[in-house]
Amino acid sequence: MERVDVVVIGAGVMGASIALDLSRSGRRVLVLDKGDAVGGGSTSASSSVVRTNYSTLAGVTASWEATHAWRDFADHVGAIDGQIARLITTGMLMFEPAGHDRSATLGHFDTVGVPYEVVGADDMPTRFPFIDNGRFWPPRTAADPAFFTPADGALDALWMPESGFVDDPQLAATNLMDAARRLGTDVRLRIEVTAIETTNNAVTRVVTAGGNRIDPPCVVNAAGPRRAQVNRTIDADPGMRVGTRALRQEVHTLKAPPGFDPGASGTAVGDMDLGTYFRPHFGGTIIVGGVEAECDPLDWVDDVDAVDPTPTSERFESQTYRVARRVPGAEVPLRPMGLASAYDVTPDWAPIYDRTDVDGYYLAIGTSGNQFKNAPIVGGIMTAIIDACDGGRDHDADPVPYDCARIGRTLDLGHYSRRRPLNATSGTVLG
Ligand SMILES: Cc1cc2nc3c(=O)[nH]c(=O)nc-3n(C[C@H](O)[C@H](O)[C@H](O)COP(=O)(O)OP(=O)(O)OC[C@H]3O[C@@H](n4cnc5c(N)ncnc54)[C@H](O)[C@@H]3O)c2cc1C
Repeated sequence: MERVDVVVIGAGVMGASIALDLSRSGRRVLVLDKGDAVGGGSTSASSSVVRTNYSTLAGVTASWEATHAWRDFADHVGAIDGQIARLITTGMLMFEPAGHDRSATLGHFDTVGVPYEVVGADDMPTRFPFIDNGRFWPPRTAADPAFFTPADGALDALWMPESGFVDDPQLAATNLMDAARRLGTDVRLRIEVTAIETTNNAVTRVVTAGGNRIDPPCVVNAAGPRRAQVNRTIDADPGMRVGTRALRQEVHTLKAPPGFDPGASGTAVGDMDLGTYFRPHFGGTIIVGGVEAECDPLDWVDDVDAVDPTPTSERFESQTYRVARRVPGAEVPLRPMGLASAYDVTPDWAPIYDRTDVDGYYLAIGTSGNQFKNAPIVGGIMTAIIDACDGGRDHDADPVPYDCARIGRTLDLGHYSRRRPLNATSGTVLG
């Protein structure tokens, strides 16, 4: 490649989406990834749940626009030989702790036009026969002697029929990257970026572990949980005021009751009452992850490369037993089954999609365990920001609006600023 307009660091689902939209804008894009495969980082570990219940209007708007993009994913990526990732619509039930006020989220749903229904506690057993809607609050670890305390009453639930999950998150990243490649994006794997050099506070050079030097005017950090290591390679201060930290996370697998299948009666569930989220998976299984319940220790990590990918029996038991309480027909395997990976978490659990104080250096980081679903529109978001900054707009003072054309709304990109006052959110992976 003779000329490079943009280097994207990271070939996860974010880097792939960004490469596609930047290529569509006519730029010559080079993607560098130190791993072996597109989407082989934290994207490959994603539970890939697509839902819209965020605490903020921006969160609901972005995820509803992205839900439409997943529905049209084949059109979004264009003609591709081979398989295309699919959105499997399962619907999602949300159980909240007693006394929780869901009116803000429902107000955002009404504003944006997201369909929902509140299912009364008495109607739950007939509408969702696999689910026990008992009130088990507070969340407990499986080691807690009170774990099996009988339910104290019954819960209603928020039902969001258009939610679901993407059947193969790594395939989705590959589809996006293949589409970018067809437009000329150059993807180089097993290449680690070790330095980003600047002159007069503007990006001038990217240096790789092999000693290669590339001189692009623009660099996007889409390095996932390793974004801090990449930020440290820039020889100027990118001016971040919202920090990010890597958090180790486990996702476990258990056996679903017959019929609790994706596309049949298996629904996704967000369970703040018991402290998990889970969804049906293929092969008669359920996968389950945590929602930062108070009783679950947070496992912050400094070195993402040192994250142990093996699930622990303590977490496995707590998460799977919680599912077994909510779905009494589910079976917990004798040995831990699942994986561990890392989220890149901001204090308000909203991502950073932004420019920096260094001209030409951009961030798509802090995805906080909840941005896979927004990936198809993140390329458009970053391209809108880069276009505007190239055109001389002061995105910090006058944030670029993003046109959510599929749902006819505008998204305020100031929500994702590295300098924002923290957004008022759930303070959990739910955003
Ligand atoms: C266990 C788990 C469950 C999740 N579940 C959901 C969910 O249900 N719904 C949802 O919406 N989101 C979910 N997420 C979040 C979502 O999956 C992530 O936000 C998203 O996949 C992050 O994509 P990424 O491209 O930013 O990062 P990654 O996929 O990690 O990609 C970053 C890439 O950068 C590369 N890289 C790093 N440093 C360098 C360097 N110096 N030089 C070159 N390359 C480098 C890495 O090799 C990697 O391939 C989950 C995340 C995890 C971990």
